[in-house]
Amino acid sequence: MHIRTRFAPSPTGFIHLGNLRSALYPWAFARHNKGDFILRIEDTDLERSTQEAVDVIIEGMSWLGLDLDEGPIYQMQRIDRYREVVKHMLDAGLAYPCYMSEEELNKLRDEQMTNKEKPRYNGLWRPEPGKALPPIPEGILPVIRFKNPIGGSVIWNDAVKGTIEISNDELDDLVIARPDGTPTYNFCVVVDDLDMNITHVIRGDDHVNNTPRQINIMKALGGAPPVYAHLPTVLNDSGEKMSKRNGAMSVRDYQKAGYLPEAILNYLARLGWSHGDAEVFTKEQFVDWFDLESLGRSPAQHNPEKLLWLNHQYIQQADPEKLALAVKPFAHALGIDTESGPHFVQVVGLLKDRANTLIEIAEGAKLFYLPPPNPSAEQLAENIPQAIIPVLKDFIRVLDSSEQSKEAYGAAFKQILAQHQIKMPALAMPVRYALFATTQTPAIDSVLVVLGKDEAIKRLSKVV
Ligand code: GLU
Repeated sequence: MHIRTRFAPSPTGFIHLGNLRSALYPWAFARHNKGDFILRIEDTDLERSTQEAVDVIIEGMSWLGLDLDEGPIYQMQRIDRYREVVKHMLDAGLAYPCYMSEEELNKLRDEQMTNKEKPRYNGLWRPEPGKALPPIPEGILPVIRFKNPIGGSVIWNDAVKGTIEISNDELDDLVIARPDGTPTYNFCVVVDDLDMNITHVIRGDDHVNNTPRQINIMKALGGAPPVYAHLPTVLNDSGEKMSKRNGAMSVRDYQKAGYLPEAILNYLARLGWSHGDAEVFTKEQFVDWFDLESLGRSPAQHNPEKLLWLNHQYIQQADPEKLALAVKPFAHALGIDTESGPHFVQVVGLLKDRANTLIEIAEGAKLFYLPPPNPSAEQLAENIPQAIIPVLKDFIRVLDSSEQSKEAYGAAFKQILAQHQIKMPALAMPVRYALFATTQTPAIDSVLVVLGKDEAIKRLSKVV
């Protein structure tokens, strides 16, 4: 079988990480099986769909490297096709016009509620052999309803939830087209999944209730239902459904906060799927290992600290050249001219081990590119005691004749410490302060390598 999966988001508002996870799994399943992955934008809800949300989805997917074989396909551009299928279903007796008005439907529902029955359409306009239908009211446009099978049940073997059986008695004759002819949501999904030859529908479990209706329509149209895998929801760190209101970040926010796409991908992969106890893995390994059997059965919980930890892992492992490229935009935003001053790749290499995000690296890089603040006389006296000045003078001399390497600078420190019988902090702290007007820097010997001997001597001499 040639595997074909799809991600079918409704571009209605806020796109959080949990939404993108619903793209990741069908993508990985298609890639693992050398199949096709399709993006379908379910934009028929004109009032709630926005171009902004479409952009966030497409950008987010391309940022994570979820490449497409087909699409984006917009449902709004397929309206003619849906109308065609509605017509076919009417012609074939698979669907029928229903003229029941809003008021009649409400009245029916109220009666059913009073009788403690489940509210449902009563099949008044459903044609049956030998049944007389009511006279067609004038001036009323009908909805089109699907003739759901009567009796029996719909059964499917959900790849995540196991066997699910829903009695047909539970299912109404679903409206597939509104009075103005526009097709309804569940119907479009079926037509698309059939037309696009989707073999595996991997989606959020908020669609479990739609599945039996979709399967019935699909079968009526002569199609074979795909395999369904309904993913448990992603909850936020306090166990609530993720939403903008309770502080979920959009995919773009993570990009802006200095996360690496590799880390996000790895994080999302583990949010509801596992492979033994593997926590840090490459995209290739993920694709290689991905299967539907290892999808989690219970809701996944978003864990921002774990994401930060993963980001740190990826920053540490990153190739310095590539990492520097990724940090550059953040550095530029902080006013750093990465083309002047120390070699940017070296600076990033020095800072990456302690950083959790790209922003932290850029912040750290300010030290090497922005002029140090002018300390007051008091601050100077406090951080560079008078007694250390002769030591600094000796240090400058040794530095001047030193080779330009971490080892040589380390040796220079040792020599001066021995000569003056003092301990490392007594010298390193004033040196740091003299160089940067702060005592918070990475290892001082590495800092000297990055800053360069000449610049260091210039700054030390000024203080001395
Ligand atoms: N458009 C639906 C959503 O965004 C998904 C439909 C589907 O995957 O079948 O929740």
